[in-house]
Amino acid sequence: MVRAVFLDRDGVINRKAPEGSYITRWAEVQFLPGAVEAVGRIREAGFLVVVVSNQRAVAKGLVSNSELELLHMRMSRELFGGGKGFDAVYYCPHDEDPPCGCRKPQPGMLLAAAHDRGIDLAASWIVGDSETDVQAGQRAGCRTIRICPPDVRYSTAADKVAESLLEAAKVILAGC
Ligand SMILES: [Mg+2]
Ligand SMILES: [Zn+2]
Repeated sequence: MVRAVFLDRDGVINRKAPEGSYITRWAEVQFLPGAVEAVGRIREAGFLVVVVSNQRAVAKGLVSNSELELLHMRMSRELFGGGKGFDAVYYCPHDEDPPCGCRKPQPGMLLAAAHDRGIDLAASWIVGDSETDVQAGQRAGCRTIRICPPDVRYSTAADKVAESLLEAAKVILAGC
């Protein structure tokens, strides 16, 4: 059985850009504390680590597909010290309108990954800092964790809440 932990990118692995702007180049990437350790623990427990990210900066012409793919390769390499990085990265390059099947809260990226890698979605998790991540996970049939800062209490439909990716990893591993 192949299990995965789907990770949202901005606000989970790296610091989010200010509202209305986008992380499109390496100089803007700031990894969040504990992200490297979290991904390592998730992988050691036998999960695939699959990034699923809405990137409408592509539709807006702020970054090209190849630039974004290079950025993700570099993030992966830096995060994992040249070791095995993310197992896969899926991103939605589309804008909100017209609607597509991949932009979260749609589950298209998770379904594509499940198809490509033979992932059992019911045995998998998604970790995100937005309710749209939770919704995409639920539509795909995954368990869900929402990252909420300690000083904020969102109302969320997620199965679990955690303060960071590292806390989320502990929740996932506790259930293994
Ligand atoms: Mg996010
Ligand atoms: Zn899309």
